[in-house]
Amino acid sequence: MEKITIAIDGYSSTGKSTIAKQLAKALNYIYVDTGAMYRAVTLYAIRNGLINEDSNDEQGLIAALDTIELRFVYNNSLGFAEMYMNDENVEREIRSMAVSQLVSKVATIDAVRKKLVAIQQKLGQEKGIVMDGRDIGTVVFPGAELKIFMTASPEKRATRRYKELLDKGEDVNYAEVLKNVEYRDYIDSHREISPLIIADDAIVFDNSDMGLADQFSRILDFANRVIDKQKKDVQ
Ligand code: C5P
Repeated sequence: MEKITIAIDGYSSTGKSTIAKQLAKALNYIYVDTGAMYRAVTLYAIRNGLINEDSNDEQGLIAALDTIELRFVYNNSLGFAEMYMNDENVEREIRSMAVSQLVSKVATIDAVRKKLVAIQQKLGQEKGIVMDGRDIGTVVFPGAELKIFMTASPEKRATRRYKELLDKGEDVNYAEVLKNVEYRDYIDSHREISPLIIADDAIVFDNSDMGLADQFSRILDFANRVIDKQKKDVQ
């Protein structure tokens, strides 16, 4: 009974998934990266010629939605679940700049959001879950017992993302990454459906000047307090 739902929302490249993964591990909860799902649908759209920089065949993608099967498969050696699309491990490809540049457009499509939100709600129906994204505390699990909204300056976020992409061997420049971070912030915050907004009951967490260990211990502390309170409430 004391298992809770933890929603971690916020801007791109705020380190949501790193913290969410660590938190899930520490609590023995399931971790779900909802951004990976929007990215996988985007990859499908790119591969099938339904979206590029200049055009967007929204109806074509909506018609194909039923044929896109998404699944998380736990990878023991990595310690987290990887994204599979139609039985293919797409974990690496969905993190490319090509997908990052188009994913926010795909995420504005109502039918895409409906499909993905339904899957997310099913994954979390037993609680004991840490889910990260943009609309988890507002739309997917408005009743989540703990909601964190992560934020940091665009420059800090772009620097983190730039390093990540370089480490993966992608050929990128910092200005391009910063532009992408700002562009996604804008679209995510201004779209009509489920825009990125701070839930009234979320804890706003600015990690611009905070190391990972410090962030993790503070957020684990928030979680333990809520879990302890739950335990007391049922006693
Ligand atoms: O979290 P990540 O940066 O991988 O998400 C990629 C994109 O997917 C975001 O920029 C946003 O446009 C979209 N997204 C969303 N709702 C979510 C998760 C991600 O709209 N719950």
